[in-house]
Order: sequence, then C-alpha cells, then structure tokens
Amino acid sequence: MPMYSEEIINEVLSKVDIVDVISPYVSLKKKGNTYFGLCPFHNEKTGSFSVSPMKQMFYCFGCGKGGNAYTFLMQHENMTFPEAVQTLAAQVGVELPQEEMTSAQRAAQNRKAQLFEVQKEAATYFYFSMRDERGKAAYNYFAGRELSEETMNKFGLGYAGKVSDELYQFLKSKGYSDSILKDSGLFTFDERNGVKDKFWNRAMFPIFDQQKRVVAFGGRVMGDGEPKYLNSPETPIFDKSRTLYGLNFSRATKRNYFILCEGYMDVIALHQAGFDCAVASLGTAFTTGHAALMKRFVNDVYLSFDSDEAGTKAKLRAIPILEGAGLVCKIINMEPYKDPDEFIKAKGASAYEERILNAENSFLFTVRMLQREYNMSDPTSKTSFYRKIAEKIVRFPDDLERTNYIEAVAATYGIRADELRSMVNSVAAKEALNPTSDREFAEPEARNPKKMKKDNTSRQAQKMLLTKITEEPFLLGKLEKYITPEDFEEGMFRTVATHLFEQIQKDALMPTNIINLFEEEEEQQEVASIFHAPIGELESSEAREKGLREVVLRVKKDSFRRKKDQMSETDPGMITIVMEEKKIQKELETISYYT
Ligand SMILES: [Zn+2]
Repeated sequence: MPMYSEEIINEVLSKVDIVDVISPYVSLKKKGNTYFGLCPFHNEKTGSFSVSPMKQMFYCFGCGKGGNAYTFLMQHENMTFPEAVQTLAAQVGVELPQEEMTSAQRAAQNRKAQLFEVQKEAATYFYFSMRDERGKAAYNYFAGRELSEETMNKFGLGYAGKVSDELYQFLKSKGYSDSILKDSGLFTFDERNGVKDKFWNRAMFPIFDQQKRVVAFGGRVMGDGEPKYLNSPETPIFDKSRTLYGLNFSRATKRNYFILCEGYMDVIALHQAGFDCAVASLGTAFTTGHAALMKRFVNDVYLSFDSDEAGTKAKLRAIPILEGAGLVCKIINMEPYKDPDEFIKAKGASAYEERILNAENSFLFTVRMLQREYNMSDPTSKTSFYRKIAEKIVRFPDDLERTNYIEAVAATYGIRADELRSMVNSVAAKEALNPTSDREFAEPEARNPKKMKKDNTSRQAQKMLLTKITEEPFLLGKLEKYITPEDFEEGMFRTVATHLFEQIQKDALMPTNIINLFEEEEEQQEVASIFHAPIGELESSEAREKGLREVVLRVKKDSFRRKKDQMSETDPGMITIVMEEKKIQKELETISYYT
C-alpha cells in the first residue's frame, strides 16, 4: 500500500513538470510535442528516450524503460516510491501529511539518515588520517600500487589508525549515540573489552551506493595481519547482494558493457586506466541480485576474475547467474598475470583493451575448463567428455546457435561435427522421452511461438488504441458506443482503460496519474509502455482513418474471442454473441473517426 493518499500523490505530480525533473540528468531536445535525448538506462548513440509534457511520462523506445516523474527517480536514483514522492513534494513545496507515516516508519527513516551521516563522518575521518603523518603507510601502499593522487581522491581512499577506539571517540565527540554507532557496523561492542573500532591499522576503501553516499567500508590490513581484507557487515543501509563496488561511477560509462572483477584494487586500477565500467562484488559471492542490478545498465558483462584456480571456480559460478539474468557474458584472459591490476601495470591499457576484444565466449570457456577433468588420451574418458558437451549444447533453444557451438567445439576438441551432432540429437531424443528429467524447460507459453505471437498482436492493438485515445481524446466520443473497458484484457490493460475513459469523460485527462495506481517500478514501466505504442506519423487522413479502423476492429475481435473462449459451443448465448459481433464489425468497418 502506498504510504500517501492517491490525492496527495497526484497533487504533487500535477505541480511537477517531468521535463524539469529529467533535464538535469538527460540533455533533451524538442521535436514536435515531445522531447528526445540519449537514454540514461541503456547505451545508445541515437536518442530513443522520449519525454512527453502532454502525457507527463518518459519512455525509451530502445529499452522500454518508462513511467512518470516518480518512476524516473525510482529507476535512476534508486529511490523507493515514498522517497520519490517526498523528493518531488519538497521540490514543489507540497507539505506531506506527517500522520500518514507511522511513528515507527518515521523513526526508521531518521535512523537511516543518521547512519548515512555516520558513514560519511567516518569516511572523512579516514580520508584525513591518511593525509597526515600517521597515515603514511597507507598512503605509501596506494602510491606503491601506482595510484595517482587524483584516483585516491576520486575513490575517497583513507586510513584507519592504530589507536583501537579513535574513530569511536571521534564520533562520540560529534554526539552520536551508542545505539546508532552499534548499527553502523563500524565497531565491536563487548561487555568486557568495551568498544573497539572494527577497522584498525587498515587502508580504507569507502563503498558508495548509487546515489554516491558512503554506505560501508572495505579495509586492507597494513602489514601481515589477518584477515587481509575486511568488509563492513550488512546494516540497514548496506545490502551486500545489491551493492557493487564502483557502480557509482560505472553507471555513467559510455561503454555498453561492464567489467566484473574481484577486488577493490582491480576496480580502481581499471578506472584509472580508463576502463570506467569496472565493478566488483564485495568480497562476497556473486548473487542474482548483483546480476539483476547490472542488467539495469548493460546487456554485456566481461569477467575479469583472477587467473588462479579460485578465480576459475568463481567464474564458473558467476556465468550461469549472469546468463540467468539475461546478460551476455565473456571471459577476459589475463594470463600470465593474476588480475587486471597486475596485468595493466605490466602491459598497459591498450593490451588490456585487446584482451577485451579477444574475450572468450562463456560456453567455450566452460567447455575448456570442463575438459581439464577428463583424460583425453583415454577413449572412455574422452567419450564421456563429448557426451557432457552434448548435454550442454542441447540446452540452447536456437538451432543455429546449436550448430555454431557444435562446429566450434568440433574444431577445437578433435571430434567430427557430424558425430557430435548425432550425440546432441540422441541426448535430445532421450530427454524428450523423459520430460520429467531435471532439464530446465522453457515456459509452456514461450515454447509455443504461434500463441505468443497472437498474444503480442492482440496486446499491441490494445496499446495502440489506448495510446491513440490518449493523444486524441476526442476520439472516445465516437468510440465509446463500441468499445468499453471490458473490451480490454483483464488486469493492467483494463485498469488503464477504465481510468483513462473515466478521465476523458470527466474532462480531466491526466494519464500520468494512472501510473500512480501501481507502486512497483516494473509495473509503472509497463503502464508507460501502454501509452507509448509506436504510432508512425500518418500523412493522409485516409491513412489515419484506415489505421485506426483496423486497430479498433482488432481489439473488438479479440474481445469477442475472449468471450467466446469462455463459452461452450452449445451455449445458447453463443449465437447472440456471434450475431452481435457481425453487426458491430459491419459498423466498425464503415465508421469514420475524423470527420
Ligand atoms: Zn533506453
């Protein structure tokens, strides 16, 4: 449930101009009634990102991101819906009713704000500690890793001193309560030993969220202490599985991929060398949350994990997670060097760039690693290896893709392509006979492209009609005799139609408010797409008539089909429906909308 009432949510929105909200982030140019710019959510060279002052919505015709001013802040600034409402309300001077927030919610919010402050104070403290006499060791460590002064500043690097409670004393002197400091993850509270700083004699890496706020730290010990790297624990403002180190910078990269590496130093070294698209998961295992986060910005990921055995294992673990999120994944070979940091120091940026170009396909990498488990000079072992490959190839849904992999593997591993193909076919046949095996089946829907296509054209027509009515609301006057909200698919389409028709009938068209009925970012995006069906500029009025006529007919026809689907052939009501359909169809074929 939204925290604020629909009225107040709509009131704030009515005072905001979405063009003003988006302009600070995207440079917009006006074309006709719409503004266009380069999409901030995907990498592109021509502007498919549109902002409509009339609809008060944005929509990217390239990647499908869309919504209203709230959605934009949610997607671009990673805000929650209530946070977006609060931000815009403050901008336009609408006072939000406090009582709508429970005191518990308000307390939680204050607490979060305080936790952000504490992390910021700590980062500042570490920063200055490194830049005076006591922090020499850390400074020399970073300088020894060939980081420039500029890079150190950019990443806010610092030093946690040798006195075991100096940060604690510093923050106490600033007036923070023990209860907040406890939640910050920066201290250990122990009955016997009192309070100690968690980071002690370490080179410090602040970890930023996407809004460039410090949320946590990583620290590398100076000297030989254990553990070598230490990270903040999770706190109310630090969710490890949703934070990527470096993303605060990489999200603005002009490259259309991310480089995923293992450590802080890798990310920093890569950024310094000009690879401003490097990120790392934070010493924790790579999760689906990380992959989903990356997918919001790019479609391609290059893995640049360590060259050692542990790195290989981590790569094999990360590949299916990345691909599961819909990312295309390639592996950068850094041998004979251990990690990107070492590689770049030894060979330089252009050599690394070359390694990116020659990165290995993730499937071929997986097969290459798999081969190490088999003795290729033993015929039995060799056959099992080929069978294992066949089992993997069979998973590719696309015929051409399977053929390409069969040929690539055949060329590399000394098997004839036709032999491997017949192995793949026999695995496929076996699995077809045994559909309960644990093989991942596609959704039944997706396995029936014909049905899916039908759904798509049906939905496409509904979108076209709703977009058209929004852009030319006077059309509803002629249409309402034939089309009602019930003619739209149940669920989101019908909700949108119901509200849109109501707004027009009340002469209060405000399509952006319909987005507010949905609180989830993804739903808001879907609603925005309903208002942005691609409608070409039709020159002649006959063409416009014809186009609209076809869309209306299609929507009505599908509506009748849905009705009939719910009846049996022998239902006496069937004949009435069929007659009615014929009659309406006839009228719709001759109606003119624009004259
Ligand atoms: Zn886009």
